[in-house]
Amino acid sequence: MYNILFSVLNSINEGVVILNENLEILFWNHYMEYLTGINKENAINNNVYKILTRLEKSYFKVALDSTIKDGRKMFFSAAMHKNLVNDKQRLNLKISKIDNEKISVVLLEFIDVTNQFERIDQLKNYIDELHILNEELKEKEKTINRLAYYDGLTGLANRTLFYKIADKFISEARRNKSLLGLMFIDVDKFKSINDTYGHKRGDEVIIQVSKILSNSVRESDTICRFGGDEFVILLPFIKSYDDCKEIVSRIINEKEKIINSENDSINIGLSIGISFYPKDGSIVDELISKADKAMYVAKSKGGNNHYFFE
Ligand code: GH3
Ligand code: MG
Repeated sequence: MYNILFSVLNSINEGVVILNENLEILFWNHYMEYLTGINKENAINNNVYKILTRLEKSYFKVALDSTIKDGRKMFFSAAMHKNLVNDKQRLNLKISKIDNEKISVVLLEFIDVTNQFERIDQLKNYIDELHILNEELKEKEKTINRLAYYDGLTGLANRTLFYKIADKFISEARRNKSLLGLMFIDVDKFKSINDTYGHKRGDEVIIQVSKILSNSVRESDTICRFGGDEFVILLPFIKSYDDCKEIVSRIINEKEKIINSENDSINIGLSIGISFYPKDGSIVDELISKADKAMYVAKSKGGNNHYFFE
């Protein structure tokens, strides 16, 4: 019967050590040989601390003594106590006392939980990877959004975004019975700027115009690059038609400021046409077409000027 019990203890994947009350090793199973590299012949009859040197710590000694004295069960977790037996395996250690009429022994069980820790590490890595993927996805979403709704050269809203915002502003103006201004701006003789100074310099002028406009409008206004050298500004919440005049004069001032501050800046003219909801139209295309017409009036009178649609 004992033989079969020992065979069972030798076949389990758990380190089993049995000690007498003098802390001498009575039994050392195969898994302990695997964990420590120490044969049972070299372990048996030796003091446990001589063989399992890493257990020779005051808190283990106190624990073991209290198991022997009071029969108290003890548990040391692999999470808290690393390298209990070797540097490789993560082991939980259970200490308990077994009494019968003839003999009292102490049972040390080293439960191998290395796989669980590996699984946890794998899951942690997996979570890290997911986090990185999620961040990448967010960045890609931002890029897609930027490409879909913003102009690559100036960073201003593109035509698609403009129509979305314009519809919102018109609905709001309808609800609040307020005015909405729309400015159509075209650079004068831009083709000849390209021809004279080159396309790259032409691009810089486009960027400069976008800055002039950005510096001139209120925070609530939306500037859009409508086409090559065409810009449209939506002016919500205006109280009177004259409010737009103030923005026009700010655009002229900004333009002068930039042209006078930079040595090699090109003198540009801006023709501006202005229309209003609801006076000139109730849908955005109508407002654009009226502002465009007013802009051409400005062009036809020599450019670098502004006109209200009449
Ligand atoms: P007008 O005074 O009548 O407006 O004359 P214009 O020469 O400005 O004529 P128009 O507005 O029709 O010309 C726009 C030109 O802008 C045509 C095109 O070659 C150029 N263009 C369009 N997009 C870009 C761009 O992104 N960069 C540069 N450098 N040029 C562009
Ligand atoms: Mg032009």
